[in-house]
Amino acid sequence: MTPSHSLDIPRLLEKFAAESPEHAVLVIDLSGHLAWASPGAERVFGYPHGKMVGLEAAALFVPEDVERGLAGHEIEVAARTGIAEDDRWQLRADGSRFWAVGALVAVHDAAGRLEAYVKVMRDRTDVRAQVEVLANRVAVLEQAVRRKDAFLSTLSHELRNPLAPLANAMQLIRLSSLPGSDIDYPLRVIERQTELLRRLVDDLLDMTRIGAGKIELERQPMVLQELLRDSLDDVRPLVEERRHTVDLIVPDEPLRLVADAGRLRQVFVNLLTNAAKYTPPGGHISVQATLEGHEAVAKVSDDGLGIPHDMLPRIFDLFTQVESSRPFARGGLGIGLALVRDLVALHGGTVQVRSEGSGKGSNFIVRLPIETGERTAPMSR
Ligand code: ADP
Repeated sequence: MTPSHSLDIPRLLEKFAAESPEHAVLVIDLSGHLAWASPGAERVFGYPHGKMVGLEAAALFVPEDVERGLAGHEIEVAARTGIAEDDRWQLRADGSRFWAVGALVAVHDAAGRLEAYVKVMRDRTDVRAQVEVLANRVAVLEQAVRRKDAFLSTLSHELRNPLAPLANAMQLIRLSSLPGSDIDYPLRVIERQTELLRRLVDDLLDMTRIGAGKIELERQPMVLQELLRDSLDDVRPLVEERRHTVDLIVPDEPLRLVADAGRLRQVFVNLLTNAAKYTPPGGHISVQATLEGHEAVAKVSDDGLGIPHDMLPRIFDLFTQVESSRPFARGGLGIGLALVRDLVALHGGTVQVRSEGSGKGSNFIVRLPIETGERTAPMSR
């Protein structure tokens, strides 16, 4: 290898500037005029050979940037800090524009006195165009997401409309004089199905409400143990149908929260319904609550299907379902856990999942801030 000290660096740099058609290299004197322009600069800016020297550097800026004083500002930044790195539109001789990516460097003499400025830039209109295309695409996608949210909201409302008349009709059948035994079975089927549909629709509706920031919590003082018992009562029919055993292990001392009892009940009913659904018949479900510092901690555990390791980080995402447990999902849409996470977060709490893997059961841990005495009045957000 040739030792580098034998290279004539100034000559090489000058040759680089002269021979690189991609890079525009300009030397600007202290009065702000061009003292030299590389052939690349003449090509990029579209000037005949030798016609750039003497121009004011500001002549290369687009009029709106000149008006904002950006030409002078760039020189000032370089003078003060050594370099001004600016990406901006620049003006060609024919008045057209190109997107320049470059830097203006202040060059000093041996005594440290500012001698001139050197500007190196490249025409990257192509990159700018790509950025603009991407930005447009993002805007289009954002619009699509908003449209989808609006659609989901309409869909949930439309789905809910037939439910009330359906329920009324059932009442009428019940009250009619038909012999009870003939009608009992279909009635129970209709009842179960409408209930399933109602839960699904309510989940959808809540999801769109949370997305639009429209959920208002109605916080009241409440006791976690009572909430867990009520939630267990709600899922009792499913638990019995699947012949699970359930333990409730809670401290005697009431765990007091200021929370929206309806919403928290929804959280625990969702977790308990999942524990019952995703555990083969005859399983074991455990509900525990305790106090850790300023947090009430409630755990819902089961010895069912468990959750594969790679699904754990995504399990709370909307519409996420474990493929292998889909036969157990009973018409679920993968909304429940997303709702659980968002409702708990609205309460200032967190929810975590643990599972040792497929077939090894699941453990959901909800942490909620307890009433500290500072917030005595019911709150809403
Ligand atoms: P859904 O039950 O309607 O599918 P969720 O959001 O409640 O929706 O749950 C998402 C997915 O997480 C479920 O489809 C299931 O694969 C998995 N899952 C949730 N809870 C449990 C559990 N206790 N045991 C095993 N898998 C579970």
